[in-house]
This record gives sequence, C-alpha cells and structure tokens, in this order.
Amino acid sequence: FAPWDDPHEKPLIQFRNVTKRFGDFTAVDNIELDIFEREFFALLGPSGCGKTTLMRMLAGFETPTEGTILLDGKDIAPIPPNRRATNMMFQSYALFPHLTVRDNIAFGLKRERRPKPEIDARVDEMLRLVQLQKFATRKPHQISGGQRQRVALARCLAKAPKLLLLDEPLGALDKKLREETQFELMDIQEKTGTTFVIVTHDQEEAMTVASRVAVMDHGKLVQVATPDVIYELPSSTYVADFIGDVNILEGRITGQDDDRVEIAWAEDQPSIHAKARVALAPGSTAYFAIRPEKIAISATRPETAPNAVTGKVLDIAYLGNISTYHVELPGGQVIKAQSTNTDRMAAREFTWDDTVWLGWSDAAGVVLER
Ligand code: ATP
Repeated sequence: FAPWDDPHEKPLIQFRNVTKRFGDFTAVDNIELDIFEREFFALLGPSGCGKTTLMRMLAGFETPTEGTILLDGKDIAPIPPNRRATNMMFQSYALFPHLTVRDNIAFGLKRERRPKPEIDARVDEMLRLVQLQKFATRKPHQISGGQRQRVALARCLAKAPKLLLLDEPLGALDKKLREETQFELMDIQEKTGTTFVIVTHDQEEAMTVASRVAVMDHGKLVQVATPDVIYELPSSTYVADFIGDVNILEGRITGQDDDRVEIAWAEDQPSIHAKARVALAPGSTAYFAIRPEKIAISATRPETAPNAVTGKVLDIAYLGNISTYHVELPGGQVIKAQSTNTDRMAAREFTWDDTVWLGWSDAAGVVLER
C-alpha cells in the first residue's frame, strides 16, 4: 500500500520542529518542512539566515539542538555522515588535483571496494551524464571551471545518493556559464531522479532551477512554495522584496467586499482596489505589493485599467529591451513601472518631469499585512 499516488508527493526528508542553537544564538528556528522525492528544492535567503546550517544538519555535519530529521521515515540522528544516503557538493568542489577526472569520479566507489568492472561501468555512465567522456584522462587543472564543477557533480552522483546537497554550487562561475550550468543541473537532476537541495542567495538561480523554493529569514521559514507562487503571491513584504523587483505602496484599508479591499494611499486621491490574501480590518495599515512589469504607463488616464494613479517621472533607465520609470505620486511615494520596448520609439515616449498615468488590474498585485 502506497499512501502517496504521485511519487513527487512522497516525502524523502521531514524536518520536525528542528532548532539549532550555537550558544545562545538561534541559527535555525523551529523548522517544519517536507522535501519530496525527486524534487529540486531550493533554500533561499540572505547571508546568515541559517540555510547552510539547515543543509549541514541534513548532511550530518551538525546535529539539531531540538527536533528530529527523518529520511525515508527514519530518524537520521544515529547515522554518521558517511553512512547517510546523502552527498554534499561544496562550493570549492574539493577535487583531488593529482587524480584524473575518471579517478576523481571513481574515488568514492573505490573506497567502498566495489568490483572494478562495476566501478568502470558506473564511471562511464557518470562521464556520459555530465558529458565529459573526452576529458576522462585530464587532471582538474587541465579543464575549465565549468567542467570541474561537472566532475564534482559526477563524483557526488556516482554512489547514487537519494539526496544531493548543493551548497552554492555555481558560486565560482561567471554569470553566463552559471546560467548555462543551471540548465545542465536541471537536466541531470531530471535524468537521475535524485532529490536535489540547493542552497543559494541568488533568487534568480533558485527560481530557475527549483521546483519549490523555501525563503528563510533569521532562522525561520517564511514561505515555501513553487517559484510562481512565491513571485505572484508572496506571503510578506520581506519575501516580495527578496524575490525580484517590487513596489510596496503603503496605505490604509477603507473597505472590503469579498476578497477585494479598498485602500486609501494618499490624501485626496482615489482609492485603489486589490485582492487580499487575509482578512484586513478597516483602518489597518496595508502594504500593496505590485511588480513593475504589471504596471502600464500612459500619457492619459487609462480607460480600461480599474486602478489608476498619476504622478511625475523622476527618472528613466533605458535597458534596451525594457525601460524602467520611477514615478513620484502625490504624497511622495515612488513607484517603479516598466515598459517593454517593442519598437524603437516606445523607449522614448516619456521623459523626466512628465506627468504620467500608471494603471493596473485588480489581480496585478497583492495586499499584505506587513
Ligand atoms: P551564508 O549565505 O553567508 O553562508 P547562511 O544563511 O548559510 O549564510 P549559516 O551559515 O547557516 O547562514 O549561519 C547562520 C548563522 O549561524 C550565522 O549568523 C552564523 O554566524 C551562525 N553560525 C553558523 N555556524 C556556527 C558555528 N559553528 N558557531 C557559531 N555560530 C555559527
């Protein structure tokens, strides 16, 4: 009997009230989290939020101060790091400089004294997986940074772990190579079916590779969701602000019907309307979060947009494909709007000091409590 019909929904890892303290400092604060089989899961947050500590507890390099971590339903606490069905790839890759690519990949298998034909076959498979067959006899200093990263990955996957932990795996690569490698990682994860947990402070990277993202703040999980939900429906201004560009317009709730609230945001200005995820009491402070690309900028009041505000252009950044405008609203709040430059003239439509209108639909943003 399998309680989970969908293999993607079977938890591989379960954190149950896990807390980690260093002295009187709480690095990881009462975490409850399931990570599913075959998932590509990202732990995201600013430096010091506890993501590495969470991962090191999975690997067995740290033990929780409180709580339990289950792997396949069993408490992992008694299992030493080298006996866990997990493997961790470090930022530095830690390849052996004197060994060839092939021998680096074979290292863990040899140590387990597996039969030579089995090792050879497995290493060949891994070389194919990371497309390094031609480089098998080279030493680490004779290959590129991106290739070294792939050797490290192949070495980690050779023993077919259930869980692979990746600590800022692409941190050493330049932007272009990093982006290419993200797709390779996704492809390799898909092919092997191994559960990947990646630690990163790069929100774009997390959004690109992961099927689900956990955002951390001061040792706590603040939101765990798919990338689109994190982006479109952030749970707080902290999450909204951490993931991509966002405007936070502060206002006061003046009315509510069903799930739609009315927000007064400046004296003598028409209210705006938006969907609220939680019930908000009239009179309470509300933060309206909206992404710049969801706001249309126009010279006259938009006829179709249910929400419209007017203001003055403070500055414009022309980025080729898009232009971004900072617009100061009555009362002093500043909104960033973005237009896609579909033709050459679109980029030149407005200039600073112009009075413009900004419009958006009711579903374009989300109202948050804090
Ligand atoms: P970064 O992205 O900078 O690596 P992080 O989110 O991974 O940050 P952690 O490395 O998990 O953060 O650290 C969380 C907090 O716990 C930090 O404030 C750190 O100084 C503290 N910490 C981590 N390890 C120890 C330790 N062994 N002793 C004392 N404090 C520690």
